[in-house]
Amino acid sequence: MNKFDVGIIGGGPGGYTAALHAAAKGEKVVLFEKDNIGGVCLNKGCIPTKSILHSSEVYKQIINSASFGVSVENINLDYSKVKERKNKTVEILRKGIELALKNSKVSVVKEEAHIVSSNVIQTKNNQYECNKIICATGSSPKVVKGLEFDHKFLLSSDDILDLDKLPESVLIVGSGAIGIEWARIFNNFGVDTTVIELASSLLPIADTEVSKRVERIFKSNKIKYYTETSVQKIENHKVILSNNEIIEPEIVLVAVGRTPNPHTIIEGIEYIGDVCGEIQLAHYAIKQALEKIDDIEFRKEYTPSVVYGNPEIAWVGKREQDLEPNTYKKSMVLVSALGKAHCDGNTDGFIKILSQDNKIVGVHIVCAEASSLILQLLIAMQNGINAEKLKEICFPHPTYSEGIFEALFK
Ligand SMILES: Cc1cc2nc3c(=O)[nH]c(=O)nc-3n(C[C@H](O)[C@H](O)[C@H](O)COP(=O)(O)OP(=O)(O)OC[C@H]3O[C@@H](n4cnc5c(N)ncnc54)[C@H](O)[C@@H]3O)c2cc1C
Repeated sequence: MNKFDVGIIGGGPGGYTAALHAAAKGEKVVLFEKDNIGGVCLNKGCIPTKSILHSSEVYKQIINSASFGVSVENINLDYSKVKERKNKTVEILRKGIELALKNSKVSVVKEEAHIVSSNVIQTKNNQYECNKIICATGSSPKVVKGLEFDHKFLLSSDDILDLDKLPESVLIVGSGAIGIEWARIFNNFGVDTTVIELASSLLPIADTEVSKRVERIFKSNKIKYYTETSVQKIENHKVILSNNEIIEPEIVLVAVGRTPNPHTIIEGIEYIGDVCGEIQLAHYAIKQALEKIDDIEFRKEYTPSVVYGNPEIAWVGKREQDLEPNTYKKSMVLVSALGKAHCDGNTDGFIKILSQDNKIVGVHIVCAEASSLILQLLIAMQNGINAEKLKEICFPHPTYSEGIFEALFK
């Protein structure tokens, strides 16, 4: 039997991070991946989506460039090139991870693997004895009754990455991060876009003020949306909604969440990432891997969430609806108050800081560069740096981060 110190099933961000860090400690590591190294994040999630999103933003900026004094004629959108660029981006990054694994002397087995016991992994023809086993087998698009993927009309977030051409119209079911990002992508490309959401607001996992702002942004971008609405039935590509309206989109993206891949809980096995069914984000999987391998302390309440597009949306910590009225202070600055926002033409949004007893407990940002801005406050929160102390920092001008500085004085 092959013997290893660490055996890891799943080559996504959780699995490959665990593999690289265990190998760096001198452990003999085997990593099993049945599909592509990089997992969902690199091959079907974060990276390909953001590559297409960026193309859509470039397109929209060019369409609107006259307001910046730049006129462009004969604008041509070739979606096959958008897809080609996305595939290339994924390939470059995948090769980078494969090389890092090779250089770290991680044995990569490109096969489906199963855990037999707390220290045995089985592939089709081989068994591997491992002192420690990590299961990082990830998740898959959730299937709901009546909206089962047919991969032609009813598409998953995997299918949507492989479109050869843009549709005329799209219906997106679900307004979590994936639904919102794809609504923005399609809208940027000029596709007639409608979103339906079962909850009472868009992006229901966010702070309610963020959700309201997202709705406002959708309205101003002419993205149609329905809240407290579901699909009643689908007949010949006609989608009948619970409010009896009928929509006839060219395609439907069903983005109602993700289900952990099937796994059996075995004592002594470490489970990390999406398979745990907790916070399904790549950086959460990575932090869990580092906690297991390098013992780096990790407090999951400080896991930030980001929704990409223009403006970006990011938050961490408590939402306003989580706090008792009159027990917290809300400090808020509108992005339209910032010089940088006007220079860039990105004036929509806000930066909101929630504090209790002079301690920052939640941050909610709707602003260009929110994905980076959130980190400034996250570092403060996690290290107990309060607003008074942050006021001592010299924030550069003109930047969006000045919004954070301004909010400290509110
Ligand atoms: C459209 C989309 C956009 C996203 N955007 C973001 C984002 O912007 N930011 C963010 O943080 N997160 C994002 N995510 C979520 C992110 O992709 C996941 O949280 C992350 O990939 C989870 O990592 P993981 O290592 O747990 O599992 P995965 O990335 O799912 O990897 C698991 C791997 O295990 C393999 N595997 C499964 N079973 C076996 C087996 N039996 N044998 C061998 N191999 C097996 C699978 O093939 C897969 O490669 C997005 C997801 C989607 C779908």
